[in-house]
Amino acid sequence: MKLSVIGTGYVGLVTGTCLANTGNHVICVDIDESKIEKLRRGELTIYEPELKEILKENNARGRLEFTTDIDSAVKRSDIIFICVGTPSGTDGSADLNAVLAAAASIGKSMERYKIIVDKSTVPVGTALKVMEEVRKHTKIEFDVVSNPEFLKEGYAVEDFMKPDRVVIGADSERAAKIMKDLYAPFIRTGSPVIMMNVKSAELTKYAANSLLATKITFMNEIANLCEKVGADVNDVRLGIGSDKRIGPQFLFPGVGYGGSCFPKDVRALIHTARESGSPMKVLEAVEQTNERQKTIIIDKVLQHFGGSVKGLKIVLWGLAFKPRTDDMREAPSIDISKKLTALGAEVTGYDPKAIKTAKKEMGKIIMLIDDQYEALRGADALILVTEWNEFREPDFELMKELMRQRVIFDGRNIWSPEKMRSLGFDYYCLGRPQNNRK
Ligand code: NAD
Repeated sequence: MKLSVIGTGYVGLVTGTCLANTGNHVICVDIDESKIEKLRRGELTIYEPELKEILKENNARGRLEFTTDIDSAVKRSDIIFICVGTPSGTDGSADLNAVLAAAASIGKSMERYKIIVDKSTVPVGTALKVMEEVRKHTKIEFDVVSNPEFLKEGYAVEDFMKPDRVVIGADSERAAKIMKDLYAPFIRTGSPVIMMNVKSAELTKYAANSLLATKITFMNEIANLCEKVGADVNDVRLGIGSDKRIGPQFLFPGVGYGGSCFPKDVRALIHTARESGSPMKVLEAVEQTNERQKTIIIDKVLQHFGGSVKGLKIVLWGLAFKPRTDDMREAPSIDISKKLTALGAEVTGYDPKAIKTAKKEMGKIIMLIDDQYEALRGADALILVTEWNEFREPDFELMKELMRQRVIFDGRNIWSPEKMRSLGFDYYCLGRPQNNRK
């Protein structure tokens, strides 16, 4: 089949490449010329494991095209995926400008029947708006389908190739059948394609992300309570995670959720719920609690240093919002850096893959060093913000030599309090007995 993917970011590029990998011809469109130029040369514009290889392979086989010419892409395609960003507007609602701009372009260019697929995360009712926008420009028949994407950055290729499920919201049988056929190669091991109406599919994506954000936040609060009452969150986590109704995932406490999806999707669902006269109180609390959680580690820092960090060198390991990505959108490291800088600390950051994106986001407020140990030279404290694997077994002896004060704040509980104490560090973590020398 001939497909177009509009928007070549984290979702669009993975979607386009994986769909090309099953033999389709995919035209990837973006308004960002420099992105398209790079992709044409076979250079990746994001860090995503496994993507480079299949992008190269499908480029070489001529199944992938990269262009800024949306008109020609639409004319030559049977199915058009909209994968543009839907950031938060000032009132928390999802900003649909890019989605509707893409819809208008499609409407202007189409000459025969098309399936238009909303893959961007969009609020209930958006397919209808897309339909109206397209209809302004054409009388030709088309269908709008909702096909939310559930891939995780860092595992995006694997998730797309072997999804837990594919959700397709289609109000037309013709479009439903074509979409099912398109996804058939990806669900051969038995994962379901869950068919539903368009509105249910649109809501499913928000419900999934909001439930995950709620689980994270609940566990963060349990960790905070553990500290007050002398319990160990690791044990509590294992104790509840073994219950099949709860499951072991998303139970690790941390410095709050961030990223390109959870924060904005929680805000958008809260907005939709309020607008619909059915406010979601639990979710409203999740959002507030998460904001607080992002800087809870700073309370520990201040407490250790007697209330002031002025002039201290504080190093952050891990800046991306999670491991295995270079995505810095709404990363907790940004909040932590801003707050520490405002308190007079000198902040230095290191990340295995996100130095470039971090430079854009906060290059003006913190020093970025491309070596995890060099960053530590002369440090008064280390805060572990993002749990990249390479941080799990570092050279602690070298760290001790390099740091001016041996103080570690572990925002992801990756090290053991006993071990850290025996190595001679003051070690603070989340929801576990702290074992400090102080
Ligand atoms: P992104 O910002 O990485 O990519 C969006 C791309 O769209 C950019 O390259 C931008 O230049 C391009 N674009 C904007 N307007 C355009 C237009 N009119 N025509 C052509 N291109 C245009 O965003 P993303 O992370 O890929 O997210 C895209 C959507 O997918 C969002 O709605 C997001 O919520 C959803 N989503 C994201 C993830 C994720 O992990 N990133 C997962 C599931 C769903």
